[in-house]
Amino acid sequence: MTVSKKPVLEVRGLTKNYKSTTAVDSVSFEVRSNEIVGLLGPNGAGKTTTINMILGVLEPTHGSIRIEGRDVALERSEALERTNFAAVYSPLPGNLTVSQNLRIFGLLYNVPDSEKRIEQLLEEFELKQFRNTRCGVLSSGEQTRVSLAKATINRPHLLLLDEPTASLDPSTAQSIREKIKEYAAQGEGGVLWTSHNMYEVTDVCDRVLFLSHGKILLQGDPKTLPGEYKKKNLEELFIMVAREPLLLESM
Ligand code: ATP
Repeated sequence: MTVSKKPVLEVRGLTKNYKSTTAVDSVSFEVRSNEIVGLLGPNGAGKTTTINMILGVLEPTHGSIRIEGRDVALERSEALERTNFAAVYSPLPGNLTVSQNLRIFGLLYNVPDSEKRIEQLLEEFELKQFRNTRCGVLSSGEQTRVSLAKATINRPHLLLLDEPTASLDPSTAQSIREKIKEYAAQGEGGVLWTSHNMYEVTDVCDRVLFLSHGKILLQGDPKTLPGEYKKKNLEELFIMVAREPLLLESM
């Protein structure tokens, strides 16, 4: 895929300190339009903290975040207008139906002709039969599809996906991956994607960033990076980085 030069997300020196922990430690990276970047790392590496700072939910201790050139700290609403996200830990209100939820987010994001957009999304994410079903009674995989429909409702230029396929069966997960790849390839959007599924990351991501104890230890193309470290695949490389990060320095 040809990667355009325009960055939709620029993160510089991003740090988050808690009393006794540095969750994110001076992290810098970019996501460009039409690019899918994987944010990888073991449990507790700082992935969700990074995403929450990009979304303006958590305040960084140091550093800056720019979305399409707008600083999240200084121009929050303009920066976040064309941003959206989906995460399993952030389900949509369960007492509202699928259509009601999408309508509310259509209003919140000021989506033009939102009824038409909602029909497209119901079709695209195979949710038509659930339009009048309360989200709380849907299976976890169905809820994930609703979250992804919500996440793309405003055709975001920056789409943040925190383990988007974690609860999906292999066939649904594959069709969701294809949709996100299409989304990144066709529009102006860039995607930041976290996942613990290295097969999926190799399939989907143009570039990966390995985070460990809040720092980016290495980055590159998930298809060629394992070979550079004499590993058979991304899973083997992940295990080495997670267990023996100091080994990287001697390679
Ligand atoms: P996982 O893969 O398990 O979801 P993660 O990479 O998303 O992990 P984070 O949730 O970003 O990791 O957590 C990074 C570190 O920051 C962890 O050590 C966590 O315990 C710590 N942390 C997160 N939130 C707080 C908080 N509010 N107070 C103190 N420490 C926190």
